[in-house]
Amino acid sequence: MSEILVYIQIVDGGAGDVSLQALACARSLADSTGGSVTALALGYDIGASVADLVELGADRLLVAEDDRLSHYLTGPYKRVVRSVLDANRFDVVLFPATTEGNDLAPLLAAELGCGCVVGCDAVHVKEGKTLFRRTEFDRKVHTDYEVTVGPAIATLRDGIADIPALGERRGEAQSIAVDLGPADTRAQVVNRDVVPKTVNLKASRVIVAAGAGVGGPDGFALVKDLAEALDAQMGATRAVVDAGWLPADHQIGQTGVTVRPDLYIACGISGAVQHWVGMSDSKTIVAINTDKNAPMMKRAHYRIEADLKTVIPKMIKALSA
Ligand SMILES: Cc1cc2nc3c(=O)[nH]c(=O)nc-3n(C[C@H](O)[C@H](O)[C@H](O)COP(=O)(O)OP(=O)(O)OC[C@H]3O[C@@H](n4cnc5c(N)ncnc54)[C@H](O)[C@@H]3O)c2cc1C
Repeated sequence: MSEILVYIQIVDGGAGDVSLQALACARSLADSTGGSVTALALGYDIGASVADLVELGADRLLVAEDDRLSHYLTGPYKRVVRSVLDANRFDVVLFPATTEGNDLAPLLAAELGCGCVVGCDAVHVKEGKTLFRRTEFDRKVHTDYEVTVGPAIATLRDGIADIPALGERRGEAQSIAVDLGPADTRAQVVNRDVVPKTVNLKASRVIVAAGAGVGGPDGFALVKDLAEALDAQMGATRAVVDAGWLPADHQIGQTGVTVRPDLYIACGISGAVQHWVGMSDSKTIVAINTDKNAPMMKRAHYRIEADLKTVIPKMIKALSA
């Protein structure tokens, strides 16, 4: 039997997608072990936006609201989660493997003296043990970890489960007191400028991505034309974002977004692991590269060994014929 706590990260005023996936994962774990799921959301004026977490899989919803929780800060957030862990008995504590979750989880584990596994791709039960699976070494190794000193704390990666539709579940929602001392509030947010999003790559079914192989404005313009011809969104490697050709929210990979389109066309992209982890779940991957030994060429479903400046105009011509 597993009593599970799921930390819900607030994104744009509501529960974030990776947290909802973690909640779905917790629900199936609790159903298979006969336990229950508690969701915990922290923020300010968030009560209404997280109310449906019960219908999405939680048996109990704890909401901590305080203006000092308006923006994520390690100190106060850690204090509140710790107070919930001290007041309840949980066997498993799940966080989304986001910057926020990966900040809080190891800190809490160190404070509590328990085990922590970050960046898990799956959670499963085998012979009564809850195992946390990580995909490691360039996705070549799948390792199962058991936490031997609990509660077992883990962060779960984007893609761990599908977000369920709203159901008929009924559970209890409860406000919890926020008790912060000077030691919890040693830093504060004084200003926050949010760069507006220019693209939602996660929702894109077709992505044409540019890498350093575009070489300059002419090559980049060709990739852009191909994206337009396919009615696709443009993705990029970090090299392209660093060069200033596309805004940062187009970056795919470890420090960018994770995408799972039906079609991903990699134009002049070597396929470094930091990029690959963000797009390897694409249904069909096409690589255009002059180097047949580039990792992307070895892993793509379809490979075009050619200069993109030669082949892309032909593709655009064929598409418009
Ligand atoms: C901590 C960390 C985090 C990172 N996070 C990310 C991340 O989130 N996303 C990311 O993308 N990177 C990330 N990186 C960077 C990553 O390691 C690579 O440096 C980057 O992905 C390489 O980008 P690229 O494939 O565009 O460039 P390159 O590796 O330089 O590859 C260019 C490719 O273009 C091909 N090419 C050249 N000319 C042509 C042509 N005319 N036609 C066709 N092909 C051509 C070449 O053969 C080559 O394969 C990260 C790195 C670190 C250390």
